[in-house]
Amino acid sequence: MMRAGTVHKYIFIVGGVMSGVGKGIASSSIATLLKARGLIVTALKIDPYINVDAGTMNPTVHGEVFVLEDGLETDQDMGNYERFLNQSIPSINYMTTGSVYLSVIKRERNLEYDGKCVEVVPDIPLEVISRIEKAAEDSGADVTTIEIGGTVGEYQNILFLEAIRMMKTLHPDDVATVLVSYLPVPNSIGEMKTKPTQYAARTLNGAGVFADIIIARAPIAIDEKRRQKIALFCNVKPENVISAPDVKSIYDVPLNFEKDNLSAQLCEILKMNKCSPTVDLKDWEEFVSRSKNGEGEVKIAVVGKYFDSGDFVLSDVYISVLEAIKYSCYAAEVMPVIDYISSSQFEKGKNLEKLTGYNGVLVPGGFGETGIEGKIRVIQYAREKKIPYFGLCYGMQLMTVEFARNVAELKDAHTTEINEKTTNPVIAILPEQIEKMAKKNYGGTMRLGAYPCELTPGSIAQEAYAKKSTSERHRHRYEVNPEYIEKLEKAGLVFSGRSPDGVLMEIAELPKSVHPFFLGTQFHPEFLARPLSPHPLFNAFIKAAVKQSRAK
Ligand code: GLN
Repeated sequence: MMRAGTVHKYIFIVGGVMSGVGKGIASSSIATLLKARGLIVTALKIDPYINVDAGTMNPTVHGEVFVLEDGLETDQDMGNYERFLNQSIPSINYMTTGSVYLSVIKRERNLEYDGKCVEVVPDIPLEVISRIEKAAEDSGADVTTIEIGGTVGEYQNILFLEAIRMMKTLHPDDVATVLVSYLPVPNSIGEMKTKPTQYAARTLNGAGVFADIIIARAPIAIDEKRRQKIALFCNVKPENVISAPDVKSIYDVPLNFEKDNLSAQLCEILKMNKCSPTVDLKDWEEFVSRSKNGEGEVKIAVVGKYFDSGDFVLSDVYISVLEAIKYSCYAAEVMPVIDYISSSQFEKGKNLEKLTGYNGVLVPGGFGETGIEGKIRVIQYAREKKIPYFGLCYGMQLMTVEFARNVAELKDAHTTEINEKTTNPVIAILPEQIEKMAKKNYGGTMRLGAYPCELTPGSIAQEAYAKKSTSERHRHRYEVNPEYIEKLEKAGLVFSGRSPDGVLMEIAELPKSVHPFFLGTQFHPEFLARPLSPHPLFNAFIKAAVKQSRAK
């Protein structure tokens, strides 16, 4: 166990009772508070599933796939960490059971265990620990937060709890554990119940891990009586029970935690001398206040296909997009009203009048055939009715298809993702993808992560960025077919962002003289939108939408 220079401190965050109570937001908030105490912080997520990364999972089951700067496809919590911390996080900070086993097995095949019997315990937890330590070392972090996916008591994450136990044994003064647990208030009783959390703490103890802090997630704030009860039954000090009632906005969470002195408690538990005696949350507080005090509304329709799940509407699938819209609205001091609309209802041009009340339309990324003719109709409607339109990845490709069909008069224009035989393949597969697809080599093989993009002077995109070039994150297999660039340009489409070699079209737009805002990006700008630094293209889109709303 190599430990050069800095003494790294580690905070594990585990969940109790049930999933979905905001462990990711709790982890992001803890990291944010420690950063606000002047510490260098990095954040990790461990997911218990066998998938090597999140890229092959259906978003309606697992939510958004968040792409890191270096291209790893991860869980949406990584997006929360980056947004809260306002910093990019490298791929060493994300692991799954699958990725951990894969490296151990690869190493064994390479004889790197010197002929020893490689075992689930200790070799799997040791691999987990070495990754955590490498992440801390690489980022020079004073403190590293590590969120363990799932809930204590699940069979799936027991090896990760074992990693916590081992790490605590190895570095007793440098490891703390936070249990984020749920305290229900059943309607029939009308009282907050502590027993499920007591069981969760006991289950954690059974794995040899003891909580230093318990975050009491509940519909309402925990009262003194129950705080004392949890302290007594779960072996924590009463002041280490942190009240975490439901909040309207996730961005209130760090401020709420601080009311119970969470960051000071952690600094004390881990004896972090570098911790500033005060916590600087000025910018965060300003952001939260702006998020509540906008004047007027701007109505944005997000038209996608992944919204319906049984009787429920899923917004998690596009979480980065939704947050990006909100940040730019707050920056423009207006309140966002965002509606999620399933695209299939617009097929054959039906229901389009539903869009008249919107100040902006956004088509996010996507794959496959479902609902795409509906999206193309929506894009056409936005173009013709001059409603500000922003297309992200698939939304840019379908915008190109729509423009090709209806303006450039390439009637059957399509993407070869849907129709390989079209006579006008305006969107075609990236050459390096052909062999991968033939071999069914799907996992982690798209064009992924950050690539540079040169901006055309005087374009809407270039003016929004206010620089000559930029870098953005990608996740796609298809692109604008170079053979159609000239035809599309002649018909009036402007390619205002290109790869430095000029081959890949990264941004398409219509000139301001033709449309107030009709722009699409082959990349995913939403992955770089953050509360304290909203994204320039989202800002430009929202600005156009606000203008449209005020002109009405
Ligand atoms: N399906 C398209 C492609 O693979 C777009 C992907 C996306 O929107 N992320 O190129």
